[in-house]
Amino acid sequence: MTTHVLKPIDIGGVTIRNRVVRTAHGTRLAYHSFEDLFEFHAPRARGGVGLTILELMSVHPTSPNSLKAWSDSQLEDYGWMIDKLRPLGMKLFQQLWHGGQHTRTDDGSPSWSASDMPSPFTNAVPVVMTKPMIDEIVASFALAARKCEQRGVDGVEVHGCHGYLIQQFLSPNTNRRSDDYGGSFENRARFLLEILKAVRAEVSSGFPVGVRLGPDEATGGVSVDESRALVELLQNHGLVDFVNVSIGSYQNFDRILAGMHEPAGYELPRTVPVTKAASVPTIVTGRIRTLEEADQIIRQGDADLVGMTRAHIADPHIVQKTIDGRAEQVRPCIGCNQGCLAGLFGPEIRVGCTVNPTAGRERTISEERVMGAEHRKRVLVVGGGPAGMEAARLAAMRGHEVILAEARPRLGGAVNLAAATRSRTGIRDITAWQETELYRLGVEVRLSTYLEADEVLAEKADSVIVATGSTPRMDGIQAMNPGEKIKGVNQPHVLSSLDLLEGNRQVDGKSVLVADDTGHYEGIAVSEYLLDRGCRVTFVSRHVSFAPLLETSAVNEPMLRRLSSAGIDIHLRGRVISIGEYTAMIGPTYLPATSNRTRQIEADFVVLISPNRGNSEIFHALAGRHPDVRIVGDALSPRFLPTAVREGWMAGNAV
Ligand code: SF4
Repeated sequence: MTTHVLKPIDIGGVTIRNRVVRTAHGTRLAYHSFEDLFEFHAPRARGGVGLTILELMSVHPTSPNSLKAWSDSQLEDYGWMIDKLRPLGMKLFQQLWHGGQHTRTDDGSPSWSASDMPSPFTNAVPVVMTKPMIDEIVASFALAARKCEQRGVDGVEVHGCHGYLIQQFLSPNTNRRSDDYGGSFENRARFLLEILKAVRAEVSSGFPVGVRLGPDEATGGVSVDESRALVELLQNHGLVDFVNVSIGSYQNFDRILAGMHEPAGYELPRTVPVTKAASVPTIVTGRIRTLEEADQIIRQGDADLVGMTRAHIADPHIVQKTIDGRAEQVRPCIGCNQGCLAGLFGPEIRVGCTVNPTAGRERTISEERVMGAEHRKRVLVVGGGPAGMEAARLAAMRGHEVILAEARPRLGGAVNLAAATRSRTGIRDITAWQETELYRLGVEVRLSTYLEADEVLAEKADSVIVATGSTPRMDGIQAMNPGEKIKGVNQPHVLSSLDLLEGNRQVDGKSVLVADDTGHYEGIAVSEYLLDRGCRVTFVSRHVSFAPLLETSAVNEPMLRRLSSAGIDIHLRGRVISIGEYTAMIGPTYLPATSNRTRQIEADFVVLISPNRGNSEIFHALAGRHPDVRIVGDALSPRFLPTAVREGWMAGNAV
């Protein structure tokens, strides 16, 4: 039922066509071009989103970001983008922001903050803001708001949470001042009040001004009660037309963008007590993926509008598909953060999406612009993991006759194994969706069908796409010590993650050594699987931190908390030297195996997690024998889910 979420709502005199919001999230596309940024927002506008709050616009050079309110030349391009987006019916608010202590400045000068508390993000110690500096920032918020109104946006949101500058003033953790801006609640709130008053004074009376607030959840930080009191204070002063509530800060970043281990609406227990204090329209967020879920939140009176931000990165057309009765066609966000968040810190410095390879790249690849093929071909896809299914899906969308052959009795490939652990079951949502789409698009799926090269040739396909995945190496070679192969690796109690997660080995209650050479989620999943079965787990990794490849996805920290509570014993910068019958020798990577720093540990089983080897035999067997054979995903080179889906998409779109 979606009766509530599709109703229009008025915010400060601006009518929003429905209650679906894309809350502000970094894309960094403005670093590339405003055309890229326009092409990112336009499909979401056409897809029916009611309100988009555009990503943080920095108000002052002491906190640079991709959108800069002080850059008039950039604002020309920004205005061009707003003019092009406005006719699409989605209202546009602009978030105004200063990062405070968490800022990396362009010229290496120090960041500014309420006090000299170091940032866990930049490790830098900020300059304590003097009264003139405070006044300068207050004025810059007001000026930025005026410039936004002049450029045609429909309203502004002042960013007062997630641990940024305003919350650095609000929080006793980061505000150690003894002047009029520190100490009591009223004093800590003064900076925000001055900003909102200045913004109000600078914009027209019918121009909505709102605030994003929220408890930060860190011990000693801004509490739920203080957030409620703040809402009441701002309302009493008539300063806000809406309140957007979200949790988390840089001390618990994973709470801002929780991974798939958290349920839909995970923020609500802490945000709804704050929205209940508001008489103006409120917005909440937190892994909401369907209009059904959003409708329920509004129906219950928990909020007036609902953020569905990552959901719309994964699928821009949620609203329209649901209105059309095609809700099952909505591509699900799986809460992995590997594209939308990690992409911002990756080599391309742009938003992306694991399940939607076009996200952030709409100017060059777009599902809205997938063209029907000029000539209908017969396309054979070998392998039914995420890469193969994506290739088959795109090829079928283009009108080809598509056959997909999978050796196993079930589609999904390595994702089925990844989903075997408690915190990761949601990852299968994407392969389940791909599978449903394949049948809807008329792909001929052949399960339990292992094809040799001659059998592939006998299919007489015009194009062949090989997506046969990868296999654990199990050769005992570790990346940091390749010349010292693990002794005793070829024993029945030395397992791969595949051996373990397929559930064919009885490990309950045993001592298990997990040797992680990859630094990704596989080591976490294996450890969680074992701890859930009462095992005593020793975790050895060559890396300097726990699952470092997930650092920018913000999913390793919560798992570290969970696994540590369950008793995992972690050894970093370590390696396995030898494996005996019930024991193993481990030691540091940076000392020889003969050093006196090695130690023996109990190990009834050892699980080796090392980069896999691609299953490319059939591709090589076909090369030179078939005119159009391509290889994608792990079969080409073992990597991760975003690459598999992207390469499948590209191959399916190219045949
Ligand atoms: Fe969702 Fe992952 Fe895509 Fe982010 S990258 S929008 S979390 S599926």
